[in-house]
Amino acid sequence: MGLLALADLLTRHQISAEVVHLGLEWIENHQFSILHYLREKNPRIIALDLHWHHQSYDVMNMVQKIKSEFPSTYVLLGGYTASFFHEEIMKNFVSVDGVIRGEAEQPILELTQILLQGKEDLFSVPNLTWRRKGRILVNPLSYVANEEDLNRLTFTNFHLLKNYQTYIRFIGQPFYVKGVSKERNFWIYSPRSPTYHLPLGRGCPVQCTWCGGGRSAQEIISGRKGVTFRGIEYVLQTIQEALSYGYETFHICFDPYPSNPEYFLELFSEIRKSKIRMECLFESFGLPTHEFIHSFKETFPGPKSLIALSPDAGSNRMRSLHKGYPYSNQALMETLNQLKSNGVFCELFFTIGLPFETQNDIYEIIQLQSSIRSRYPNVRGIRTFTIEMEPGSPWHLHPESYGVKSQLHHFMDYYYHHSGQNRCFSSLGYWIPGYVKGNKDSQGFEKALQKMKCHYFCFIHPIARRSSTPFWGRRFCDLSNLFWKTKRWIRK
Ligand code: SF4
Repeated sequence: MGLLALADLLTRHQISAEVVHLGLEWIENHQFSILHYLREKNPRIIALDLHWHHQSYDVMNMVQKIKSEFPSTYVLLGGYTASFFHEEIMKNFVSVDGVIRGEAEQPILELTQILLQGKEDLFSVPNLTWRRKGRILVNPLSYVANEEDLNRLTFTNFHLLKNYQTYIRFIGQPFYVKGVSKERNFWIYSPRSPTYHLPLGRGCPVQCTWCGGGRSAQEIISGRKGVTFRGIEYVLQTIQEALSYGYETFHICFDPYPSNPEYFLELFSEIRKSKIRMECLFESFGLPTHEFIHSFKETFPGPKSLIALSPDAGSNRMRSLHKGYPYSNQALMETLNQLKSNGVFCELFFTIGLPFETQNDIYEIIQLQSSIRSRYPNVRGIRTFTIEMEPGSPWHLHPESYGVKSQLHHFMDYYYHHSGQNRCFSSLGYWIPGYVKGNKDSQGFEKALQKMKCHYFCFIHPIARRSSTPFWGRRFCDLSNLFWKTKRWIRK
């Protein structure tokens, strides 16, 4: 979400910049080589985002290739994972020249200006970890964007993104299936509506136990101590610009004060006043208020708009233990009643495999889901996922307090975990001894969770944007297994 704003900031200071998205390039041309491309462009600085821990191996692999081919190019990293493990990355990978921790606008501009002047003294660049004569230096984490900083940014300069038309239409959906054309991906696996992830602000005032982006995690990673909203007029401008590029749906995943939605009530009212027609997919961090639901429906009456709720657990006890905004099942049902009576669609998200979870808690999720399915036709889907070990989350920092065992502590653990050498695709990176009877290791834990997911929580549907009940999900799964087995047998 922030990369285009960084590129735009540089270009407004007469520094040419381009964003290249390797997944997007792969879609356009399976033979695309970033090294060839860099040879043509010959940039002075190459910055790679290492935000999600899943990127750990691939990004470092790319960094090493780039540095060996272009030894005089400055190689920079940023993003949450790089920020959290900045010193370890610098120690283990000499190809990395610098890491910008946390928020990057002012740091990347200052760093770039200094490097382009041919200077090497980087002491003044905020948030930078860098090398000087073989030593690793850590500059203070002194830049955290305030409202004026955020208001100055432009998040919609798509011309700075190579092949941006494909990005707008085919990326930004929940997932992309390889082996299927981009058009089929759009029609089958996406909500069939180009979706823009709308930047509204930064920060979260609470800390869920699994989250690497909550209050305490952000304080460590970015030095951010509070929530900052973008001014409403700037958000409106972003919406208008994104619409002009062909976006239709706006995904909002920033709801720091669910019980006090003043900001959204004002934003929605301005959207109505400006007669903007758009769809909205709003992820509520807690439970939306009655006023919010009413205003949401008035502003986004379209068929693709919905509010997503994440009860996560089935019991009040588990929500209080883990969620920053816990609520009771009774309050959840009251909200679902309000959503139903206002004609607002919604989707629900749950999770299993949490610390302190018992069989009884799982049983409560099953009961709750079944009661919601039978009472609320406006609930379009119920999905149950497992959670992975996120750097900087409370589970990661204090596994013993949560009774969690993990093999993922350091950056190199994540690096090897995602190297493809382990069967890590569905591995969560943690396990809970005694979660199920007789489970003695991470494999036993993951197998037990997978069995439970298949049996009680399967939601796969032939049209991936929809979700099935567990019964029909399992039938579809059996059928597609049979299809692939037969196909393999015929090939043989
Ligand atoms: S509400 Fe919880 S999960 Fe969402 S960002 Fe905040 S801490 Fe993370």
